[in-house]
Amino acid sequence: MEIIDSHCHINFPQLGADLEAVLARMHQAQVTAALCVSVNLESLPEVLRIAEQHAEIYASVGVHPDETDGESPSVEKLAELSAHPKVVAIGETGLDYYRVQGDLEWQRDRFRNHIRAATRVHKPLIIHTRDAGADTIAIMREENAKAVGGVMHCFTETWTVAEAALDLGFMISFSGILTFKSAENLREVARKVPLESILVETDSPYLAPVPYRGKTNEPAYVRYVAAELARIKQVPLETIAETTSRNFRRLFQIAAG
Ligand SMILES: [Zn+2]
Ligand SMILES: [Zn+2]
Repeated sequence: MEIIDSHCHINFPQLGADLEAVLARMHQAQVTAALCVSVNLESLPEVLRIAEQHAEIYASVGVHPDETDGESPSVEKLAELSAHPKVVAIGETGLDYYRVQGDLEWQRDRFRNHIRAATRVHKPLIIHTRDAGADTIAIMREENAKAVGGVMHCFTETWTVAEAALDLGFMISFSGILTFKSAENLREVARKVPLESILVETDSPYLAPVPYRGKTNEPAYVRYVAAELARIKQVPLETIAETTSRNFRRLFQIAAG
């Protein structure tokens, strides 16, 4: 069995400080690969270094919508940086009207640049959306994100948003939030999303699933997300592991390990 963590931040100090132990626990849990997602350009060299040193770690290039300081890259810059052989996606990018307030035209412009870069280099998108579902989908349509597809990561939106993303050829990725007691609406959404369009992730070091809720999250714990999904879908854990791993490899064009 293999499970893949489609979204983590193992370069962050909570995990990066003891990375070899984090990766050892990941392998023990049969988590065979993970995608280390960039949130800004300043930390990109560290993300790439981890991916270069570990065959099972992949990388992405992008600037998170919550990053109010630091460089907001041009389409050209993103395209150029994504040429690295371990970079399999553009992101995370998207819109977040929850954590950042005020005139957010800059956030929408940055999001458009990421989609344009992705369509230019033919790499899928990793999209973050919070309290901004309608605008996110509208921009994805306007910029023809369908041409490359991608994933709506750490999904917490409604079925309406999920359905629109699925129509654009995007996958839906569920995190440890799925295991939270209060997340009944989200479990209802997960019930409806076809298994062929689902990924699992930790978004570690944040959002540890039950029974580790509130603790530092790490890729090994993606197993609990997969187990919850198995319960929701009423299929064996092996089916979830196999299907979501296949989905991951198909989306990011990574040969089976
Ligand atoms: Zn995110
Ligand atoms: Zn993230």
